[in-house]
Amino acid sequence: MPHDQAFVSVFDRGFMFGDGIYEVTPFYKGKPYRLEDHLDRLKYSLSQIEVELEIDLIRRTMLEAVSRAGLENSDCAVYVQITRGVAPRTHFYPQHIEPTLLLYAFPVTLEGFENKKASVLVSKDLRWHRCDIKSISLMANVRANNESHTAGLAENILLRKGYFTEGSHSSIFFVKNNTLYTHPEGPHILSGITRKAVIELCANLGIKLIEDCVHIDELVEVDEVFLTGTTTQILAVTSMFHKEEEVFSTTETGKITRALQNEFLRITRNTD
Ligand code: PMP
Repeated sequence: MPHDQAFVSVFDRGFMFGDGIYEVTPFYKGKPYRLEDHLDRLKYSLSQIEVELEIDLIRRTMLEAVSRAGLENSDCAVYVQITRGVAPRTHFYPQHIEPTLLLYAFPVTLEGFENKKASVLVSKDLRWHRCDIKSISLMANVRANNESHTAGLAENILLRKGYFTEGSHSSIFFVKNNTLYTHPEGPHILSGITRKAVIELCANLGIKLIEDCVHIDELVEVDEVFLTGTTTQILAVTSMFHKEEEVFSTTETGKITRALQNEFLRITRNTD
C-alpha cells in the first residue's frame, strides 16, 4: 500500500519500546544477494526475542515487494521490520498478540563503492551486550553515527575496552602483516552478512584471515582498514580520528582491500 496510507498503532511495542527486530537485504539489478543468509539472521533475531513468524511468508513478500515497486531490474534493498505487536503498555511480553510486519522495497545506489574512501571517527562503544540481535532499538547507534556525521566523518567505529568492535552500522576489518583481522562473532557485534561474504572471499583469494580483536594501540602496525555492510559493501578507510587526533592515515585503497573489492564486484555483478 502507499506508505502514507500504512498505519501502525501508537500501542505497537515497536513504537513504545523499540521491541522488535529488522533486516535489510540488497538486490543487485533486482536479484537478491545472500537472501537465505539474511533470512537465517532474521530467524535468529526472532528466536532471541521469542517472536514467531513464518519465514516463507517473509521470503515471498520480499520478492513480491521488489516487483510491485517496479524494481525488478534495479539496484534496491528490502527493509523488513517485525515488532512484538500491539498491546496495552507493560514491560513483560503480553500473551497472544500478533507480530506487526512492515516490509518495503526501495532503490539504493550500490555502484561506485570501490571508488570511495572514508574518514571515520573512533569512539566508545556504549551499546548493550546483545549486539548480535538486529534490534530496532538503535539509540546508541544513532547517537554514535550522528556524532561522526556532525564531525563530517563517514562512520563512527566503536571501541569496547580499547578493542574495535564494529561501526555504528557496518563491520570493520584491519590488515596487519598481510593478514586480515576482524572481531569474532559473539554478543558484541552483529554477525554481518557482508562480513561473512568477505571471509569466504578470503578463502577463495588465499588471504589469511584471523577472527580476533584489534586494539587501538595496534593501529600503528595496521596497513589497511575497510568497512563492510549491505549498502556500504567494501569501503576503504583512509583516515581515523580518535579524540581529535588522527590515529590512522593512508592515501590509497590498499592492495588487499582492492583485491576483495574486485572479487566482490565479480560475484555481485557477474563481471568476468
Ligand atoms: N554492524 C552493524 C551494527 C550494522 O548495523 C550493520 C548493517 N546492518 C553491519 C554491522 C553490517 O551487516 P551487514 O553486512 O549484514 O549489512
